[in-house]
Amino acid sequence: MGYKKQAKRIAEFIEPLRVEPGDRIRLAKDFDPGFRGGMKKKDGVELLHTGVELLAEYQARLAAQDTHGVLLCLQSLDAGGKDGTIRHVMSGVNPQGVHVSGFKVPSSEELDHDFLWRYAARLPARGDIAIFNRSHYEEVLVVRVHPENLDRQKLPPETRGPDLWQQRYRAINDWERHLSENGFRLVKIFLNLSKEEQRRRFLKRIDLPEKNWKFSAADIRERQYWHDYQKAFSEMLSATSTPWAPWYVVPADHKWFARICAAALLAHTLMDIDPDYPEVDKKTRKALLAAKLDLEDEAPEGAARDPYAEKRRDR
Ligand code: AMP
Ligand code: MG
Repeated sequence: MGYKKQAKRIAEFIEPLRVEPGDRIRLAKDFDPGFRGGMKKKDGVELLHTGVELLAEYQARLAAQDTHGVLLCLQSLDAGGKDGTIRHVMSGVNPQGVHVSGFKVPSSEELDHDFLWRYAARLPARGDIAIFNRSHYEEVLVVRVHPENLDRQKLPPETRGPDLWQQRYRAINDWERHLSENGFRLVKIFLNLSKEEQRRRFLKRIDLPEKNWKFSAADIRERQYWHDYQKAFSEMLSATSTPWAPWYVVPADHKWFARICAAALLAHTLMDIDPDYPEVDKKTRKALLAAKLDLEDEAPEGAARDPYAEKRRDR
């Protein structure tokens, strides 16, 4: 398939997942966690394979061009599939160009700074893809659902007015705009899991001893705040889906489908950047050819002057 056709197919595929900037969405009403686009798992696995190859190629070019960076933000409730998505979607790319950061309960040093500080320290460099496994969005999710987190942030009283969440949304939007205006693209994915699928995945984590480490009593406690989280997510998605950094709600009840969506979203952004290997100028190219002659002249008795050129001719 040609580049243009492929880019168009990917754009069409991801379109229904986007939260249109300015829309007020309600998760339960507007997005179905079980959606799989009429696709079967077998076709999905093949498609993911194609996507992973595509990502590997584009990531290599992104690194070579060294002008843009990409930040992938992954949010979801517990057992939403963030870890598995990262593992599968990034399986083909060069680890040198990818940095994954997970964000947990903040340390005392982190609490001693503004709320974006620890995330800013993990942003991608040009040429890199950074992945946030949980992100700055926790600051308007878990912190909002459990206000005791906010108490720990040592905010002076005059900053704790009724507009605090609106101010955080605005700060996040401004920060992301600044990043995008400087060549850093954001891919924001919310893995949208149903409550029933979370129940199944928790049970699996309890039933399989090798999965026990992934489960904690805190996960059950958080599940009791399901409704509060749905509300916080809905409001956050509505307030922070912007033209420069839109949100995508990925149906997450079928892991294989969620992974295809994540690969497609990342591919879409990389194809839009359309990075390429830098070409050397005429003068440099001439110098390379002169060096080639010298190397050929050094060929030992019986060896090909340029073994690589010979091999290419034979193919
Ligand atoms: P996990 O991703 O399962 O290792 O869990 C990390 C935990 O850290 C989750 O329970 C998050 O809600 C929590 N967490 C992440 N960011 C924050 C934050 N900014 N404030 C408080 N808790 C957080
Ligand atoms: Mg957890």
